[in-house]
This record gives sequence, C-alpha cells and structure tokens, in this order.
Amino acid sequence: MLAQFEIRDKVSEFVYKSAMAPVKGFYPTAVAKFAKTSVSNVFPYLIDYTKSGELALLWELRCPDFNCHQTIDFNHLNINDEVECPKCGMNFIISERDFFLRFDFNQSYKDYIRKKSKKKQVFTLRN
Ligand SMILES: [Zn+2]
Repeated sequence: MLAQFEIRDKVSEFVYKSAMAPVKGFYPTAVAKFAKTSVSNVFPYLIDYTKSGELALLWELRCPDFNCHQTIDFNHLNINDEVECPKCGMNFIISERDFFLRFDFNQSYKDYIRKKSKKKQVFTLRN
C-alpha cells in the first residue's frame, strides 16, 4: 500500500520526466504503471496539473482493433456513427469504449521545464 505522498511524488516525477522527453502527452495508464498503483489513485494528482495549466485533458478515439489502435479524428462524428479506420480499413460503430483519456502538455510548460533544467540550481537551507 502506497502512501498518498508517494503516489503524488511518483506522479510529479513522471510529469517532469515526460515534459523533458520529446512527447506531446501521455495516457493515465502509463502514469499508474510508473507509480505501481491504479489509474484511480493517480488521477486526482493529474487533474491538479490541468488546474494549474501544465496539462490539458482530452479524449481520443481509437480504432477498436487491438493490433491497430489508430487515433481517429472525431470532430464530425457522433456515438453510434459508423466509421472506417483510415489505417486498417475496419468498419465499426463508435461506442464509449473506443474513447481514451489523454493528458497533453502545454507547450509553454515544456519550454519552461527545459529552460529550468539547463540552469544549475543552487539551493541551500543554511544561512
Ligand atoms: Zn484500425
């Protein structure tokens, strides 16, 4: 059983490392795996990042074919619409199960983290 402070620490470590990496965003399942806990345990801490603007929460529609999992633009689609996957050609009816939550970085936050990491941080508690 992990303490709340351990989970929060792991989440912030993951967010920091991902911000430094060449990725646009990540899935909550990746964070849960990294923190060795469940998605429901890491979710509140990830939501905190959306409140302060480092991350944005969005939905992604994915092809239900497990080997394909192509991301599909759903701007002009509705639940129960039939679509053809642009990658594997599979036809399917869109359902709630085909949507996945994703957290995307705010680009200015990524810029900030990269700039900050270049500077040597000198921090002391002694007077
Ligand atoms: Zn597909």
